[in-house]
Amino acid sequence: MNLSSALHKKIFRIVSLSSQKIKQDSYVVGGYVRDFLIGKMKSEDLDILTIGEGIKLAKEVSKYIYPYPKIKIFKRFGTAMLKYDNQKIEFVGSRKESYHLSSRKPFIELGSLQDDQNRRDFTINALAISLNPDNYGELIDPFGGLSDLKKKILRTPLDSDITYSDDPLRMMRAIRFATQLQFTIEEYSFKSIQKNKNRINIVSIERIIEEFNKILLSKKPSIGLFLLYKSGLLSIILPELTLLKGIEEKNGCKHKDNFYHTLQVVDNVSKEKDGFLWLRWAALLHDIGKSSTKKFLPKIGWSFHSHEFVGSKMVPNIFQRLKLPKGDPMKYVKKMIQYSYKPIALIGNRTSDTAIRRLLFDLGKDLEDLIKLCLADITTNNIEKRKQYKKNIYLLMERVKKLEERDRIQNWKSPISGNDIMKAFRINPCKKIGVIKNFIKDSILEGKISNEFHSAYLLMLKKGEELGLKKK
Ligand code: ATP
Ligand code: MG
Repeated sequence: MNLSSALHKKIFRIVSLSSQKIKQDSYVVGGYVRDFLIGKMKSEDLDILTIGEGIKLAKEVSKYIYPYPKIKIFKRFGTAMLKYDNQKIEFVGSRKESYHLSSRKPFIELGSLQDDQNRRDFTINALAISLNPDNYGELIDPFGGLSDLKKKILRTPLDSDITYSDDPLRMMRAIRFATQLQFTIEEYSFKSIQKNKNRINIVSIERIIEEFNKILLSKKPSIGLFLLYKSGLLSIILPELTLLKGIEEKNGCKHKDNFYHTLQVVDNVSKEKDGFLWLRWAALLHDIGKSSTKKFLPKIGWSFHSHEFVGSKMVPNIFQRLKLPKGDPMKYVKKMIQYSYKPIALIGNRTSDTAIRRLLFDLGKDLEDLIKLCLADITTNNIEKRKQYKKNIYLLMERVKKLEERDRIQNWKSPISGNDIMKAFRINPCKKIGVIKNFIKDSILEGKISNEFHSAYLLMLKKGEELGLKKK
């Protein structure tokens, strides 16, 4: 078997020599073998399995690398990691695992290659390539992983009920791989996920979210989101989303299924390669306020009045529960949802320049993403309507662009600082400074004065006087 790039060939030779020296057989395993066999060269990490001690092999390998690399040792797991030419290499000793019902952390003993392959999650991840002199480059495939790769199937090597129950994180991994590789989870295996879904509760939320984010960052996240829903896992992880499922009809009036709509919106914002994770989260949560705001108004039909506001208020709790970052990402997602309908509301000739300036001011550099979300939100199947909605947004953007060129609001900084005000009136920091600054900001947004120092200075003097201040 041709072991790919020059760098990888070199690494494999070094590992092979080192293994012979310490008399431990070694194999390339994991994602590298899988991705290499499907022709997707991904070089993030290289997993090396050795029949013996992983740390010992890493130390031996490091002797052949110049300059001498730092070895990261994880004593508790018996693993080690080092980098060669920016390629991460992980070393792990072969193990045999047995599980206890209350934990996904196994009891570990030293094991054979076969034991180690048995503990792998999927047949396509249980492939090993030998680095040993007698069969160098040979593929060791005890569970038909190669055939599953060809058939695009995810299957567990051993009984899937036991595999998922032992380590329920594997359920998330199954759905993550199904999304990333666009593979099918074998029917029996999927049924086991449905059966074992509640076992996910023994997995830490950080590990669940790590997989969930990988699903969201895939080319077509809806594949995974739908599988999460169908397996029952979504109602445990993010019940707010499953509540959007379903269509109700009253007096012959139906609303759309907001769950499927959301999936489509997420796919739409994911068309950009290497997209921004938090825009995808915003798309995912953009309609979560709809389940609690849904009402049927006899003369109007279905209404989800102020669902954006209600939805944005739900974000901090969700972020806290899922241990997602509380700072900028949370604020960004909250803002995107709160404003998700704003551009639509501003469409039309009757919208004032002030309203558009306010949008530019409130959103700043995030306006570009908000527009992406609004365009992604157009999921109607009616081609004419779709065209018209998109055109409306493009027209609005033209107006936004013209106003921005003229007034420069988007990265707005007040032309008058607090210091300018204190100096002019010879006052110490106090409430009046804030009042004057706000007044200047509003006057600029309302187009009453232009966005520059001179007009703002004159207005400051006038407002100061009104507040009982005198220029000194
Ligand atoms: P990627 O690097 O793209 O995430 P990978 O398959 O290399 O994919 P890793 O998390 O790096 O995934 O794990 C390396 C290998 O270890 C996997 O291919 C699999 O054989 C095994 N593995 C990882 N996590 C588990 C698990 N929870 N249960 C069983 N085997 C696992
Ligand atoms: Mg890997």
